[in-house]
Amino acid sequence: MIKTENLTKIFRTDEVETIALSHINLEIQKGEFVAIMGPSGCGKSTLLNILGLLDNPSDGKYFFLGEEVAGSSERQRARLRKENIGFIFQNFNLIDELTVSENVELPLIYLNYSAKERKAKVEEVLEQMQITHRKKHFPLQLSGGQQQRVAVARAVVANPRLILADEPTGNLDSSHGEEVMNLIEGLNKNGTTVIIVTHNQRDAEYSQRIIRLFDGQIITENIREYNR
Ligand code: ADP
Ligand code: MG
Repeated sequence: MIKTENLTKIFRTDEVETIALSHINLEIQKGEFVAIMGPSGCGKSTLLNILGLLDNPSDGKYFFLGEEVAGSSERQRARLRKENIGFIFQNFNLIDELTVSENVELPLIYLNYSAKERKAKVEEVLEQMQITHRKKHFPLQLSGGQQQRVAVARAVVANPRLILADEPTGNLDSSHGEEVMNLIEGLNKNGTTVIIVTHNQRDAEYSQRIIRLFDGQIITENIREYNR
């Protein structure tokens, strides 16, 4: 599903040059659940953003669903994102002015689903995330755990092949964090590929494979026994 060859990202400002990622070689198969771990500043979010086509690498190759996309235009990446990827972020990233239902509906609007299809899909996924009773509320009227469940609903409503989550439990207490991880695990069991960034060992336990980054490089790739 995903393959990188010597993927490198350098951030340049006037005076400083930061090598955020250096020669990352990585292959992730369809249906896998992978955790990316490592200390703050080691390049986890940079890697996830590139894998999620939110950013381009400075050097190296990136094959997404077999297509080389390292030098692709924003327009091309936006199309691939909309059709294939659901994102979940630490800060939920919901639109405060829209209700729960409207937030979850957005990806379907971008993909030109009909109003009838949108209504049905939104209802189905709100039910799945056990948040139907809050569908007319606004994000700031919800707890963090509820907001993240809405964000998970939005990430999956268009049936993406790939879910990318950047520290999805980082702003939640442990019981809400576990709830969100259980939902993500359920999506993976239904066949969705999941890549999660976390510095929480408990979250990483949900994965089949842990990729450890240090200073922009992969230091180990553990193949875990899948024992859950
Ligand atoms: P992590 O998610 O592991 O905490 P990041 O991927 O956010 O780390 O950052 C990796 C390195 O790249 C850090 O040194 C960070 O300061 C730098 N960095 C990230 N984004 C930018 C940016 N947009 N401009 C300049 N430097 C950046
Ligand atoms: Mg980060």
